[in-house]
Amino acid sequence: MRKIVAGNWKMHKDRSEALALVSALGRSPAIAGVEVMVAPAFPFLAMAAELLQGTDIIVAGQNCHHEAKGAYTGEVSAPMLQSVGVKACIVGHSERRQYFAESDEMIGRKVRILLDHGITPIFCCGESRAEREAGSHFKVVTEQMKGALGGLTPEQMEQVVVAYEPVWAIGTGLTATAGQAQEMHAHIRSLLRSHGPNVANVPVLYGGSCKPDNAAELFAGPDVNGGLIGGAALDAEQFKALVRIASES
Ligand code: PEP
Repeated sequence: MRKIVAGNWKMHKDRSEALALVSALGRSPAIAGVEVMVAPAFPFLAMAAELLQGTDIIVAGQNCHHEAKGAYTGEVSAPMLQSVGVKACIVGHSERRQYFAESDEMIGRKVRILLDHGITPIFCCGESRAEREAGSHFKVVTEQMKGALGGLTPEQMEQVVVAYEPVWAIGTGLTATAGQAQEMHAHIRSLLRSHGPNVANVPVLYGGSCKPDNAAELFAGPDVNGGLIGGAALDAEQFKALVRIASES
């Protein structure tokens, strides 16, 4: 099964900081068996793609618009990302859902336009704290998956990466236990399998305060195929440590 460690830099790092982090990662020897992705902010994507050319590190966007072009001031499209060497893109992150009112339907359109442009969507799903406390976390994730990915063909689904990110664990220092992560990942795997046997091989990443000191346990879950990393991706040494841990899991 593919393993992926992807860094979501969010709205962090100015040009020189982004340059320093990309360069530090680019200089590090590749670690066999793990696909590494970095998602800097829009202004630095082209620079990152150029600097990382010839390495195995994939440059990812953090978001894109669901149309290919048009009068959408302030937005960035999938073909624009493609034209600067972006090969993957996070969609449906809980911060986009929460602060920018992104619906499953809109996120599904983003997934499709990315696929149309040869960009791997990293589709995020996950429940809020209240939803977990109410015991509705499996239902919530099922609805997010169906709402956004339901209309895809099996061939399209095979191109997607899923990231399970319990909202209560993102940037809070709280993590899901390894057991909570694995049981949700197994649930997501069964939803994927219902789209076709090959779709069951789609990587499912864990995200939510994943750090070098808890990653080994989290990544040990048989249905956990790596991580989508926020805070710990802002530091080259921590991020590299996470890639090493994924390669050993
Ligand atoms: C994220 O935002 O995708 C994330 C997982 O953040 P953090 O690792 O900081 O919780």
